[in-house]
Amino acid sequence: MNNRQNPLRLNVGYLYNKPIGSLREVPIEVDQIEIDDLIARDLRSHIRISRTREGLLLQVTAEAEVLTTCGRCLDSFYLPVSTEFEELYQFPSRHREETDLILPNDGYLDMQSIYREYLILSMPIKRLCHADCAGLCAVCGVNLNEASCEHQPQAGAHPSEDAQEKSV
Ligand SMILES: [Zn+2]
Ligand SMILES: [Zn+2]
Repeated sequence: MNNRQNPLRLNVGYLYNKPIGSLREVPIEVDQIEIDDLIARDLRSHIRISRTREGLLLQVTAEAEVLTTCGRCLDSFYLPVSTEFEELYQFPSRHREETDLILPNDGYLDMQSIYREYLILSMPIKRLCHADCAGLCAVCGVNLNEASCEHQPQAGAHPSEDAQEKSV
């Protein structure tokens, strides 16, 4: 998709042999990122990596603007979201279960799909480009944020304004 370096691919291999309790703080700043169907910009994130007995615990905070569609006017817009999560990546062992996250042998952890998942989860079901989005006309489909049409009842507001002016 794009060959630029993946900023969510972390080199954690050097922590494998560090003593339990070792900590690393990894700041992440990405202007624009595309992970499968997810497009986001201004990703600001912080990862705290702790070496535990089982493997590495990653505690992540992240905020970004995610490209999505307004539920009312169907326009695309960037929705600011923030999320927090933690994941334990375990050293390979024979006790592992299907759902366990396993540390890669090469020491490079690709966090892309985890970020994608949590950023999507952080989006509300009802997404509006702005709180007072006027939506689309149900009759002609015009975007009422950008234009008006003859199907809107707004004409009804004018007579009363006129009446007020006349009564003054
Ligand atoms: Zn809208
Ligand atoms: Zn209309």
